[in-house]
Amino acid sequence: MKIGVAGLGAMGAAIAARLIEVGHQVSVWNRSADKAKPLAAAGAMVVATPAALADSCEAVITMLTDGAAIDAVYTGPNGLLSGNAKGKLFIDMSTLAPTVTVALAPKVRAAGAAFVECPVGGSTAPARQGKLLGLMGAEPDEAARAKPIMEQLCRRLEHCGPVGTGASMKLAINLPLMVAWQAYGEAFAIAREAGWEPKRLLDLFVDTNGANAALKARAEMIVTMMEGRDPGPTTFSIANGLKDLRTMVETGAAKGVDMPATKATLSGFEEATHKGLGGGDGAQMSVYWAGRKKS
Ligand code: NAP
Repeated sequence: MKIGVAGLGAMGAAIAARLIEVGHQVSVWNRSADKAKPLAAAGAMVVATPAALADSCEAVITMLTDGAAIDAVYTGPNGLLSGNAKGKLFIDMSTLAPTVTVALAPKVRAAGAAFVECPVGGSTAPARQGKLLGLMGAEPDEAARAKPIMEQLCRRLEHCGPVGTGASMKLAINLPLMVAWQAYGEAFAIAREAGWEPKRLLDLFVDTNGANAALKARAEMIVTMMEGRDPGPTTFSIANGLKDLRTMVETGAAKGVDMPATKATLSGFEEATHKGLGGGDGAQMSVYWAGRKKS
């Protein structure tokens, strides 16, 4: 199938590589053109505008930061919907407020196309291996069109309900993950006076009921950072965590849900971002907080 991918950040690049690997004819577009180079080398066709993706593909996947990026790429100049969108399928996999996808869906349908939201759980490695957790929000007939593609990217695919429900479910599953990074930082700070080596400390934590899968997967990375060494590429940035936490708090407010733990975590992520750590991995929140002096 001819599939386009708009947004070649950490996740979009992994998704495009996976789609090439399973045999699709993949075209790609990214705002910063240099990020398309490795995919061109892997066999993707690089196009100059989102509109050109809509023109040349049967389905287009978008994987972008936030609502502003969605507006720019779908309805901005040379956006997807200014191309030949009629009869095409658009699948957005970004983590967004449900209000964003609910507003976008009718614009896509007005262009004669189908719209499915399918935000995902799992980071770059599961994306590359087709082992994401997909949370579709869509009308049943449109979900059925997206399913064969999403099944090649996901180990588990849930059709949550209409557009908006997938976005809400994605925010819900990310919430404990974000709060946990802040909690681990506070826990490591309490444990610090014992004077243990980072490796011994993490070895203890991963052997407890409080250790989630993310801590287990990133324990070595945390030790590396605590020892002042380079942890390597970021898979999920603190900046994207901050964006998610803001979206969670706004979505909670819109649904009448009090979120004291999420708000406290949001202020921790804001502080780390102000200190210049926005490009660091989410796991770095725990390292930052563990070493932070009391304000
Ligand atoms: P990323 O590496 O920061 O990439 C963001 C992408 O959005 C880039 O392609 C960027 O283009 C593009 N973009 C941002 N603003 C734009 C604008 N105004 N116009 C056009 N393009 C714009 O982020 P990521 O980690 O791939 O995450 C992408 C989405 O997936 C986010 O919603 C994130 O929350 C979600 N997500 C991430 C993970 C993860 O583990 N990383 C897991 C699940 C879901 P440039 O290259 O030009 O900046």
